[in-house]
Amino acid sequence: MIITVASGKGGTGKTTVAVNMALSLDQKEALQFLDCDVEEPNAHFFLKPDISSSEPVSIPVPNIDEAKCTFCGRCSEVCAFNAIAVLIDHVMTFPELCHGCGGCSYFCPEKAISEVPREIGLVEKGKAKGINFLHGRLNPREAMSPPLIKSVKDHADRDGTVIIDAPPGTSCPVVTSVKGSDFCLLVTEPTPFGLNDLQLAVQMLKKMDIPAGVLINRSDIGDSQVEDYCQREGLPTLLKLPWNKELARLYARGEPIVRHSDGWKNSFQGLWAKIREIVEDKSIKRV
Ligand code: SF4
Ligand code: SF4
Repeated sequence: MIITVASGKGGTGKTTVAVNMALSLDQKEALQFLDCDVEEPNAHFFLKPDISSSEPVSIPVPNIDEAKCTFCGRCSEVCAFNAIAVLIDHVMTFPELCHGCGGCSYFCPEKAISEVPREIGLVEKGKAKGINFLHGRLNPREAMSPPLIKSVKDHADRDGTVIIDAPPGTSCPVVTSVKGSDFCLLVTEPTPFGLNDLQLAVQMLKKMDIPAGVLINRSDIGDSQVEDYCQREGLPTLLKLPWNKELARLYARGEPIVRHSDGWKNSFQGLWAKIREIVEDKSIKRV
């Protein structure tokens, strides 16, 4: 079972929720935690894994042999990302825009394009309190996060339980993270901004046909618009976390709340039970 924890906006407490979900499970089955927020991975601050291996991730980018090139311009037409420009007697490439799709080399009539690897980041693996932990680290100033996210997800073991901590937002990196999940938990807060970003995330999941539920963080601030929206959409509100000093203090110290209170551990175990029920009920209405 693959569960993704996502949020239409940053700062909602998504990683805290994902970490507490992981730590609330009694380790009867294999559990993986994949931090796919590769631009700013931070689950390791809470889980404190012992990293045992690190592998570089590259994408193939074009290398032009101008001795063979006739400057026909076909590669530039094919590239949807403006990563190649053909001049009268020179071909310019922009590797930082290249998605490594291979289209240009496939369509070059002169076979003048070979592919060379360009490193975009790392996948690190380790163990954290019995949890198999992985995260991606995108290189500084690198924009191409989806291939790195995909590399992290290639390690997902469907025989056990997998928690994916997705990047915030609703753009390509989030779609790449959520794709193939059995369920997506959307973390939001009861404010107009929270509602707006939740609506965007729900639209995304509808298109991807992935069942979802909502966790409302800082549930005692703001208004009732998020809950009203969830009711209208038939989107279950699975857990509410209040805003209080005790939780804020633990968060600031990087300490998971389920480690400090059996009550919260029970609440997160209840959340798991509701998610399993939804995932196993094939007749359930998608959002
Ligand atoms: S498609 Fe091939 S031959 Fe044509 S401009 Fe590009 S590299 Fe040169
Ligand atoms: S590999 Fe794809 S994205 Fe990269 S330059 Fe070629 S066509 Fe463009």
